[in-house]
Amino acid sequence: MGMLADRPMGDEGYIFYWMQAAVRSAQNHALEFAVKQANEAGKPLVVGFGLDLDYPEATPRTMQFLVEGLVDVAGRLLQRNLELVVREGHPREVAHELASDAAAVVTERAYLREPRAWRNQLAKHLDVPMWEIETNVVVPVEVASDKREYAARTIRPKIHELLDEFSEKLVTTSLDWGGGAPQLDSLPVTAAAELLESVGLTHDTDAPIAGGESAARATLQAFVADRLDRYADGSSTDFTAGSSSQLSMYLHYGHISALEILRKVRAADAPDAAVDDFVEELVVRRELAHNYVWFEPDYDKFSSLPDWARETLREHRDDERDEVYTITELAEGKTSDPYWNAAMVEMRETGYLHNRMRMYWGKRILHWTNTPEYAYRVALELNNRYLYDGRDPNSYANIGWIFGLHDQAFGENPVFGKVRPMTTAGLERKIDTDAYLAWVADRTGKEIHGAPTD
Ligand SMILES: Cc1cc2nc3c(=O)[nH]c(=O)nc-3n(C[C@H](O)[C@H](O)[C@H](O)COP(=O)(O)OP(=O)(O)OC[C@H]3O[C@@H](n4cnc5c(N)ncnc54)[C@H](O)[C@@H]3O)c2cc1C
Repeated sequence: MGMLADRPMGDEGYIFYWMQAAVRSAQNHALEFAVKQANEAGKPLVVGFGLDLDYPEATPRTMQFLVEGLVDVAGRLLQRNLELVVREGHPREVAHELASDAAAVVTERAYLREPRAWRNQLAKHLDVPMWEIETNVVVPVEVASDKREYAARTIRPKIHELLDEFSEKLVTTSLDWGGGAPQLDSLPVTAAAELLESVGLTHDTDAPIAGGESAARATLQAFVADRLDRYADGSSTDFTAGSSSQLSMYLHYGHISALEILRKVRAADAPDAAVDDFVEELVVRRELAHNYVWFEPDYDKFSSLPDWARETLREHRDDERDEVYTITELAEGKTSDPYWNAAMVEMRETGYLHNRMRMYWGKRILHWTNTPEYAYRVALELNNRYLYDGRDPNSYANIGWIFGLHDQAFGENPVFGKVRPMTTAGLERKIDTDAYLAWVADRTGKEIHGAPTD
């Protein structure tokens, strides 16, 4: 818990929970903290969200996912006697409006630059207290470590030492206030189509993935019941969404908490290896990414890569590339490599890509662009443009990983220097690439450039 504005609570008004990064009713530490504040002060609680149509890198697809989450959480909050107020506008401005009649403000801790700045800007203008509560990681980022960590191996022992302490189930508290909710204007929050329409957007009934806490929980349940036990197997068909949890987009929008997932997976009747591998990804790797964006102000810049990686890439800057593509050719999936094109089509059409294909996808971009700096920008832009889980701490840490972040030096290769390479032959050894091509074509109904036709 952090205090962003250390001021006395106002005599009048409600407790305002500015919901932004944790759009859920369950296992939401910020919500529970706000309820407790309201109960202690004998005040009503208002939950508010600013729906920003100009949110950086938002697309109609991600906007719909977000809106589905809002409608879902609105229904769940209602069951707890709480109303969700959604207003169109910049999140900071909507929060500012709703905070003007508040006796105190509560929000979730954010990790990326802009939402962090918005919180601080709001806090400066308040004459009531404002708290930020951490709820989207298992071990709070500054408790896990007090510095930017080098790699998974350096943060892993720190996280494991604290994991049990921070894995306790969060207790739900009922709101005591019985005097009726303050009457505040809101966009309609009972149906996603209606909410989208109210801001001039249309509901796409064919969207590949549905957003919201209910969808997130159903995805978690299906994963634990049907796929978790195979998570550590590393089978050659591990390239479909059906071989991993497909929870990253729900985590990104805060539709489910990492804590809930962790508890469910640990309680499952699954082999230890599967549970351990999953916890490594969900907690160690994911929280390493949070550590990176929290402690590294330039987390989205090439300059934030480790010195050794930048140096070796600089030494190989002028190495001849077999092929060079523009960002448009890449986005269209028009390279000479059908596997890569299939990954691009999958990402573009479905908004998702399995981790194995993400690694290959990213490494090839370094191979096919004029400079490593440009490769970095292209990879980040395509990642954030097409993936539901884009623009996440994981996006910046993993695009960085393509270029050596959180990794070690390998033997020297053209273009990559000492950065870990990934070759087509390597991919072919890991997965059934023909099956992958067929699967993407079938799943998306799109032709894969360069794929054999029969
Ligand atoms: C080039 C590249 C780009 C990536 N871009 C993103 C991105 O934009 N957003 C994103 O959330 N993840 C990104 N990842 C990490 C990872 O690929 C995805 O989180 C994962 O594939 C999501 O699918 P899942 O939920 O089915 O994963 P699962 O295998 O089921 O993993 C469970 C959860 O663990 C976390 N996780 C898994 N792998 C990693 C990892 N390598 N680093 C950190 N956390 C991890 C995710 O939160 C994931 O939801 C990227 C990886 C690479 C190599």
